[in-house]
Amino acid sequence: EGRRLALLANAPTRTRDGLDIRLLANAESPADVALARTRGADGVGLYRTEFLFLRHKDLPSEDEQFIAYRDLVLGMGGLPVTIRTLDLGADKADAAGLVMQGEENPALGVRGVRLSLRYPAVFSTQIRAILRAACYGPVRVLVPMVTQPDELIAVRTLFKLARQELKRENIDLPEKLPLGAMIEVPAAAINVRALIEHADFLAIGTNDLAQYVLAADRGNDALDNIYSPLQPALLRLLSHVISAGRRAGKPVSLCGEIGGDVNFTALLLALGLCEFSMHPGQILLVRDRLATLDRGALRHHAPRLLRAHTHEQVAALLAEISDAAA
Ligand code: PEP
Ligand code: MG
Repeated sequence: EGRRLALLANAPTRTRDGLDIRLLANAESPADVALARTRGADGVGLYRTEFLFLRHKDLPSEDEQFIAYRDLVLGMGGLPVTIRTLDLGADKADAAGLVMQGEENPALGVRGVRLSLRYPAVFSTQIRAILRAACYGPVRVLVPMVTQPDELIAVRTLFKLARQELKRENIDLPEKLPLGAMIEVPAAAINVRALIEHADFLAIGTNDLAQYVLAADRGNDALDNIYSPLQPALLRLLSHVISAGRRAGKPVSLCGEIGGDVNFTALLLALGLCEFSMHPGQILLVRDRLATLDRGALRHHAPRLLRAHTHEQVAALLAEISDAAA
């Protein structure tokens, strides 16, 4: 079985009925990047930069960040990499003390882009490092915890200012740098049409989106019966966001845990997803699973899945449909 899977490292990712799917890696360390390459990832769909900050006793300098991002880009050998800007706050506190102390509800507090925008100097240091690294290969920038368009507009402005600064310093700049929004706040998903105008691509973060849609802490085991990726309310949002991306002609990936879980591959195909981002250790398993699934047949069942009333009903339908489509 291990040998059969290993052969898949160099195989294309294709459904049984011949649709090409992009499999990207979630990464936060050089080891993840190396694994992404050996497993034949099509790129990095989520590089979590907060780990640079969490490991640091203070703030990482522009050069330290630049080296980490450049090595990521070089490590992927010309494949696209998606660098997510700092997502501190909630459960992730830094040593430098950027994260607000004493918030009563940190998951609903100043986290992700909300925090970055409060510290424009710190944020601009990261932005300069990303711009410099983007001269070494194709880079996209992903903004976490976006709620409304003004946040994306503010980030774009900071990128523009950083470009002007670097240009004055005669430092090389990349030609283009697509800017995307993570869709993990319910308002961003419901009102995705407002964001998509300002975004070059979207990445759905189902770990947080499920937490916020269901008002259930993503790490609280006592809520397992509620925190289910099969919740109809969540499926409808996923479908809504994926369709909005298709209509606008902008790529939509999904980078939450369910993207790398073969139990949800058929469901995500049914909802129209064509780009999955996952822990690199999952890539061969998902590629293997995709090859058994008939995407056309699954798409046909999407309306039934979206009409289900409970996550138990979705689970039952999914079992029925995957048997038929596999
Ligand atoms: C998510 O929320 O689904 C996600 C991918 O981001 P993180 O797990 O880093 O919050
Ligand atoms: Mg998240």
